[in-house]
Amino acid sequence: MMVMLDMRGIDRAFTGIRDEPLYGRVKDYLRGGDRWPWLLTRFGIPASALKGKNCPCPGCGGKDRFRFDNKDGTGSFLCSQGTGEVLAGSGWALLEHVYGWTFERALEEVARVTLVDFAPMAGGGKLPVGGIRISDAPPPPQSVTIQAPGVPQVIHWQDLKIAPGARPETEAQRRYDYLMRVFQESTPLSQLDGTGLQIVRNYWISRGMGERFRMPPHMHFHPDLPDRKQNWSGPALIAWVTRPCDGANAFAYRKFVGMQRIWLNPELRNGPVNAKQSKAPIEQAKKSYGILDQGMIGSSVHLYGTEYSRIRVIGEGIETVLAWLRIQSMQGTLTESVEAHACLGTSQIKNWFAPTDKPVWLLQDNDPAGIQAAQFFRQLHPDTRILVPPQGCNDFNDFLLTLIQNPSQTRSVSPCLP
Ligand SMILES: [Zn+2]
Repeated sequence: MMVMLDMRGIDRAFTGIRDEPLYGRVKDYLRGGDRWPWLLTRFGIPASALKGKNCPCPGCGGKDRFRFDNKDGTGSFLCSQGTGEVLAGSGWALLEHVYGWTFERALEEVARVTLVDFAPMAGGGKLPVGGIRISDAPPPPQSVTIQAPGVPQVIHWQDLKIAPGARPETEAQRRYDYLMRVFQESTPLSQLDGTGLQIVRNYWISRGMGERFRMPPHMHFHPDLPDRKQNWSGPALIAWVTRPCDGANAFAYRKFVGMQRIWLNPELRNGPVNAKQSKAPIEQAKKSYGILDQGMIGSSVHLYGTEYSRIRVIGEGIETVLAWLRIQSMQGTLTESVEAHACLGTSQIKNWFAPTDKPVWLLQDNDPAGIQAAQFFRQLHPDTRILVPPQGCNDFNDFLLTLIQNPSQTRSVSPCLP
């Protein structure tokens, strides 16, 4: 016998909050495609239960009492509950069956997972008027493929912090343990002394950052970090990768989704070297490391500033962002407080996720991938101001090194100011 789930209560619940902005945003999100299967797996329902075949119920077990039929993309399902009485309903009812969530709770959870509160509009497509300097940039590519941005994965941080010494149970746990070991073996740049301080200081000087460079707070120094694959061990900078969606205290709570390791030339202990020789003489002196396959979506190295800073500045490489700031300080042209982030790659620029509570300035690299990422980004965030290094410079670090070699330019050129 089939008993349809009584939807009247849910109707009432819907009616009660239909006009609430949060529900409206979630509804728009759900209308934007076949979202339920993706959502349900984010909450931990196994993908194998969502293939439309009879299988064990993710809510009440059994052998084959459950079927996910996802009618019209509503996330709908049937479960015979082992009693012969069939429970059926939409994705909301499924969340209640599996997790016991009320509709209000489920709504909150869905909003949290999808970040609809501050997600950019996919494919908004409205081109901004003014405020963008691309004067020195090569012409943009003819067409830019617009896709929806990625959505950061839900990470159950509390599960990743098991007692030290316990055996890691998952790959993510194993990777996070390694990350934390490197964290404990290394020193915040601001607390360095002795040889470590010398190496790091000489590195920044070699990169054009000047003698009074303020060390970014979310970077560490490791005196002798091994990389077995390259048969190398030596001094390295470590930049901790966090996600704005994990909150302003993501760093303090050690919510690291990864790190970037930059192995340095050991010769730096004796003094500054040529910028091109400042990294270790190995094939890959810069390597990223993530705890999850898709965990880097929406992530960055948070270099400076806080949620109270006025402008959010993002760029691809750590040194691109640092160099841009250095140029501003050399020219005395930065008048706003900035929160600065390095995304570590064009795909993280395309998948940038942060509260949209302040203006964003994007530092573009002058290569085709950098230009394309900036175009893509502006489609999603139409008010972005894109700042471009002068032609002939691949990025702002190139430009900074040019300025230092030709100091006469420092006053006459200001290509990156609003
Ligand atoms: Zn069931």
